[in-house]
Amino acid sequence: MRVRIPSVPYLNRIIALTVRVRLAPSPTGTLHLGTARTALFNWLFAKKEGGTFLLRIEDTDIERSKEEYIKNIYDGLQWLGINWNETPIIQSKRINEHKTIIKSLISKGFAYRCYASESELNEMREEQKSKGLAPKYDNRHRNLTPEQESEFINAGREPVIRFKISDQKIISWNDLIRGKMTWSGKDLGGDMVIARRAPANSIGDPLYNLVVVADDSAMKISHVIRGEDHIANTAKQILLYEALDLNIPVFAHTPLILNSEGKKLSKRDGVTSISEFKKMGYTSEAMANYMTLLGWSVPEGINERFKISEISEIFSFKKVNKASAKFDWDKLNWLNSQVIHEMSAETLLKNLDPLFKENGWYLPSQEWGENLVDLIGPSMVLINDGVNQAKPFFEEPELSNDGKKQLEIKESKEILKFILDKLETLEAAAFSKEEALDVINQATKNCKVKKGLVMKSIRAALFGTLNGPDLIQSWILLSRFSKDRIRISRFI
Ligand code: GLU
Repeated sequence: MRVRIPSVPYLNRIIALTVRVRLAPSPTGTLHLGTARTALFNWLFAKKEGGTFLLRIEDTDIERSKEEYIKNIYDGLQWLGINWNETPIIQSKRINEHKTIIKSLISKGFAYRCYASESELNEMREEQKSKGLAPKYDNRHRNLTPEQESEFINAGREPVIRFKISDQKIISWNDLIRGKMTWSGKDLGGDMVIARRAPANSIGDPLYNLVVVADDSAMKISHVIRGEDHIANTAKQILLYEALDLNIPVFAHTPLILNSEGKKLSKRDGVTSISEFKKMGYTSEAMANYMTLLGWSVPEGINERFKISEISEIFSFKKVNKASAKFDWDKLNWLNSQVIHEMSAETLLKNLDPLFKENGWYLPSQEWGENLVDLIGPSMVLINDGVNQAKPFFEEPELSNDGKKQLEIKESKEILKFILDKLETLEAAAFSKEEALDVINQATKNCKVKKGLVMKSIRAALFGTLNGPDLIQSWILLSRFSKDRIRISRFI
């Protein structure tokens, strides 16, 4: 029995304010961008309303659910800064409660056993198709007599359990994003299966719509915020709430995320899971920032570059679009580069150092490392870009075509020889900007060439190419290992 809340105005207000939302991922794959965005909207809403954000792992598909995916989901959310309250609910552990609810639906006449075989159902669907009708269960076993039921049981048939959906029923709700929504019972595919096939004296495995209603109600969820691909499920779930006499939560259906061709973002688009974005070198801050913008329009006067912890105050479903959101790599890349450029050298180095170590690259000192990231940071878009850009500071570079051409110029050899002689007189570890400039000026004068030629020759000898960050700073970093001397000596 549902406990009715007495109609005391202030009490109703307090209850209305208790926001409890949840993310209910199925651990049948890694944390998908769409699920993470749903998590973010739930989290932002809970934060804004001073509510609670919960997790429920929907692992009832035992064959496809995996522990490693649960871990991937937890790790991904934590990485994004989306923390949850209370211990996550594991759906499969509540199977007995789900079955009890199904039994009560049967005993109250809201649900029944359907013995139609798969081949009979296929035949029914084929016939509907040939008439140009949408496939729909024709409710053929809704009113079996006890004799008919016994006959099916004696014939060894195993039934599913179906929940009655009246064709005449009109279901409506006020969606926080989409406004007033209305569905007709006749468009829901006929009486819905709520438990899989099992012997008639038992209850088979409970199915999605039933368990979601049972769990959302048990968890006292006030607002169900999920993707718009669940709209038809919401209509079905409202019927279950009504039959079970449970409080119906408020619903908000978030827009889908589409690829650049306007199709639903899928595995075919390459990366879709949060752990893959992380592996590519996207920062958690840029990802969370970008995902919030996938569907939510920033109020006027607010910058699109933000930390999610800063915007919960202004987040509202009023600014979430009904239209699908297009995934825009350029914008994500721009945000990621912004985040990287805003990082202190210490933080950027903390992000890069594990990647350096994976390559067997070790920093001679923290200061050297920070100087290195100060040098390469401004041109980085992804964290991983730092690895490519740092490589010539740790490993001998290949000679590229432009570098080779430069070193073939006859004055180059003479310039490099002069520079090497000068360097031998200087202390590598303390090589300074002034000393570098002085060596360049002396070489320019002594070899009677343009300064540009000197600079290019040094760069080609040190880095194998004519492109790269500030030459003097790069040279100073390289001198720390006397690598500048070693590399120059290869070309004279
Ligand atoms: N397990 C469902 C999914 O991952 C949850 C849907 C819901 O939020 O109710 O799509």
